[in-house]
Amino acid sequence: MNQSIKDFITLDKCKTILEKLVKINSTHPKGNEMDMVRAILTIFEKYNIEYKVFDHSENRGSLVITIPGTSSKESIAFLGHIDTVPVEDYDEWKYPPFDAVVDGEYMYGRGSADMKGGVTSMIITALYLLEKKITPSKDIHFCFTADEELNGIGALAIKDSGILDGTKEIFIAEPSDEKLGLAEKGALWIEVVVDGLSAHGSRPDLGVNSIEYLIEYINQFRTAIDCESTNPLLGKTTFSVNEFNGGVKTNVIPTQSKASIDIRTIPIHSHEDIINKGKEIADKLMKDKNSLSIRLNVENNRPAVETDREHEFIKKLKGLCEKLSYEASYKGLHFYTDASQIIPDLKVPFVILGPGDDAMAHQRNERIELSSVARIAEIYTNYVLEN
Ligand SMILES: [Zn+2]
Repeated sequence: MNQSIKDFITLDKCKTILEKLVKINSTHPKGNEMDMVRAILTIFEKYNIEYKVFDHSENRGSLVITIPGTSSKESIAFLGHIDTVPVEDYDEWKYPPFDAVVDGEYMYGRGSADMKGGVTSMIITALYLLEKKITPSKDIHFCFTADEELNGIGALAIKDSGILDGTKEIFIAEPSDEKLGLAEKGALWIEVVVDGLSAHGSRPDLGVNSIEYLIEYINQFRTAIDCESTNPLLGKTTFSVNEFNGGVKTNVIPTQSKASIDIRTIPIHSHEDIINKGKEIADKLMKDKNSLSIRLNVENNRPAVETDREHEFIKKLKGLCEKLSYEASYKGLHFYTDASQIIPDLKVPFVILGPGDDAMAHQRNERIELSSVARIAEIYTNYVLEN
């Protein structure tokens, strides 16, 4: 055990940094992540750091801080998003969501768990290396990304810049309850728009009922998808119709109807296959019926991703956690992270390992245990020094 790391990572340090970040409102849809970028840079003010700011315009930005290693051929990257979901029920919160109030072991606030806590663990890791003037064996990139909660523009910009090209291992600092997250479900959101033909309610034979065709379409689509195969960490692919609109009056055959389907996939299911199946079913129904149109709009397409637990990276990390006396069991995450935006292209093993409980994400009275931030910073720092 490295005592110098333990001594460096105090709860007070975790509190001071996290407080600074939670007090900045970086909620969607505006994000204003450039305020976060500026705040993070002030934390590093006294060091001569290597960094790059990505300007996404309209006060939106991402940041990469690099601690150069003895070799720059390879690198380890840490990713944390600096945006949060909005606060819709401000008055219902126990403490104001941007006050960063500490009560007992916890700090409360929007983004405390998802995921300014993880961002704090990353910052402390970087500070340790700088303060102790340590040159790691590889470059270490600390990536602070904008817009994870919506389109992932920050992660995409960083990936496209080539900074991560030599990266061999990626840590996603999302709240994982301090477990090793090896897999996350994919998300495929499809809007289905059905156009039929209006007619008087007494003469359905003269119209094409868009609602009835939409129901028929959804039933066929659902049957065509494998919702039975099981992934040990993620369970099954799910298919859920979460919006359904159509019709004007009881006595009018409806012309247009729409539904939104949220499909959450496990890694064996290709989104391209699912979309193609959806299109085939639409084509077949349209072929059999004049004046019927069925269109699919893909509104979100993030594949499921997974790292093999036998991968050397995971084995090393698990060994380290055990050495530090942390349990570190494996886990699958049901929500998507920045991993889905970068892993399919980079093809690098990743782990989702961060402080805080993922059940706290997007919740009222979101909170995080400060000692969890410290434990994760300890794991990150030890890992960087040993690899
Ligand atoms: Zn998150």
